Amino acid sequence: MAPERENQETLSNLLREDRRFEPPVDLAAAANVTAEAYEEANRDRLAFWERAAERLTWAKRWDTTLDWQPPFAKWFVNGKLNVAYNCVDRHVEAGNGDKVAYYWEGEPEGDSRTITYADLQKEVSRAANALTELGVGKGDRVAIYMPMIPELPVSLLACARIGAIHSVVFGGFSATALKSRIDDADAKLVITADGGFRRGAPSALKPTVDEAVKDCPSVEHVLVVRRTGQDVDWTDKDVWWHDLVDRQSEEHTPEAHDAEDPLYILYTSGTTGKPKGILHTTGGYLTQSAWTHHAVFDLKPETDIYWCTADIGWVTGHSYIVYGPLANGATSIIYEGTPDTPHRGRFWEIIQKYHVTILYTAPTAIRTFMKWGDDIPAKFDLSSLRVLGSVGEPINPEAYVWYREHIGGSRTPVVDTWWQTETGAIMISPLPGVTAGKPGAAMKPLPGIVADVVDDQAQSVPSGGGGFLVVREPWPSMLRTIWGDDQRYIDTYWSRFKGFYFPGDGAKKDEDGDLWLLGRVDDVMLVSGHNISTTEVESALVSHPKVAEAAVVGATDPVTTQAIVSFVILRGAADEGEDIAKELRDHVAKTLGPIAKPRQILIVPELPKTRSGKIMRRLLRDVAENRSIGDVTTLADSAVMNLIAAKLPSAA
Ligand code: ATP
Ligand code: MG
Repeated sequence: MAPERENQETLSNLLREDRRFEPPVDLAAAANVTAEAYEEANRDRLAFWERAAERLTWAKRWDTTLDWQPPFAKWFVNGKLNVAYNCVDRHVEAGNGDKVAYYWEGEPEGDSRTITYADLQKEVSRAANALTELGVGKGDRVAIYMPMIPELPVSLLACARIGAIHSVVFGGFSATALKSRIDDADAKLVITADGGFRRGAPSALKPTVDEAVKDCPSVEHVLVVRRTGQDVDWTDKDVWWHDLVDRQSEEHTPEAHDAEDPLYILYTSGTTGKPKGILHTTGGYLTQSAWTHHAVFDLKPETDIYWCTADIGWVTGHSYIVYGPLANGATSIIYEGTPDTPHRGRFWEIIQKYHVTILYTAPTAIRTFMKWGDDIPAKFDLSSLRVLGSVGEPINPEAYVWYREHIGGSRTPVVDTWWQTETGAIMISPLPGVTAGKPGAAMKPLPGIVADVVDDQAQSVPSGGGGFLVVREPWPSMLRTIWGDDQRYIDTYWSRFKGFYFPGDGAKKDEDGDLWLLGRVDDVMLVSGHNISTTEVESALVSHPKVAEAAVVGATDPVTTQAIVSFVILRGAADEGEDIAKELRDHVAKTLGPIAKPRQILIVPELPKTRSGKIMRRLLRDVAENRSIGDVTTLADSAVMNLIAAKLPSAA
């Protein structure tokens, strides 16, 4: 064999080992954003964000780009704009009124609506007039508790239009969770629906609202959309949407609001404790949500059909179903229901029907699809897809590769996007036309974002090192504070490392300096003096062919400080035989080293997750340490903990 060939073979083996995916040539050639953006932002970060802000329409230009009184930031000071005008009216004025803003797909098959930008302008104007008639004005808080129906984005935009501050609460939360959020924000109005469709049946929302507002003196009215036609109890605070909104004028003149006027409060999903009311404002938030949507998904508004599968009750839905896509004039899909109704191919059927080109979903969904089997997506034509995104948790390399291969036809780049409710928009992500993707890595801070990994002395770690993720400089869509609690804002985010924002996540820098997110630092385990990340052990488990999902926690152990306890869901056909626990423990030891070998493997049918799909490890830690189980109010399905507890005695 000629030496040259030999080299090539070694190289391709290495490449396969590293699993790097270069951007497709045609995508790179026509990409919205090129490598130059990093240089531009490095030269002058504020000038870079000014150019991003210029993509919006301002009623009055700002006079100072950034006023930074750490840790309080003001962006685009004295600038004035209306968010709803930017998301809706300006596209109509530009002659794109007939363009589709949303293809809405209800859960019952055949129940769909097409909403153009002109339709949206009329509906948002009517809703804005209705809110005004109910006495809601600028600065008032409006709680929104709705299913994924068109009136949901309309409600957000109506609030934005008049300067009212919305606070969206997941439609799956309990009355207690809803009430505490209404109270914390002193909401004057609640917008809801009789119910929504979930798993093939109407699921009521109104009774939960009735229960929640019973003792909420701040609430003057409850505005109710009729969606399912279920019977509802009626109080004198209640107003039907169709009675009030439908008779309003479809003309409404948007007022220009200050760049720093509040846009919304959103309570974090509560994975780690009492939810925080994250406050976002107007100009900087819209600038970064719109720019990142344009850059990270390479959105071409003329030709792309974009689908973010998140719930609008989560920050991903705010920034990447409503504000970013609409500001960019995109055509998006909104789907009301679950991925398994009426069958497990529903997502792929929707992609085929609308020729979706960009899909943005979460690792938890991807792992579920893996569990259901490759044959399901294989039955559908997914060839329209050109960019895939992931958000919410670290994506296990195995899930990334499956997503790319089985959904993306081995063509599409996968962008793993790291960000949080607090950051408002994507912070760390590959750019699909620039970055060679590595499965499991979020890669690099976006242009204009200065993030780093530091040790506990706040010193930047070298390539190959690991530690705490920090953001060194303010960014336009950053949270401004925690609603009503500046001190908690300072303590939570700005006290661990002086002068830096600390998101609470751990990260690693690889030899190329690329970033791998490791999840929350509270989830890092200390085993016999070694820091081991739950994410890495979970990814090792998921790389075993019999494993669909895994959650790992550190349980107190008299010998090793903490011991690794794993909760594992097996793939469809895999059996629960005696030897599986041993096989998986050995597999982890082989993949990561003996130190990472779990003490215990528990085979479970489900994992406890928040509505946004994140695993609630603190509850599993309670199980692993034989404690009574903590607060489950933000769980998507609280029965899951009983299923898991029932599994315990037989566990290995
Ligand atoms: P709480 O702070 O109340 O516990 P939460 O953190 O679950 O709620 P979110 O703001 O929805 O609320 O989630 C942000 C967190 O999700 C990040 O801090 C990070 O831990 C995780 N995350 C999101 N995207 C990624 C990603 N691409 N890679 C790794 N982790 C991610
Ligand atoms: Mg968080």
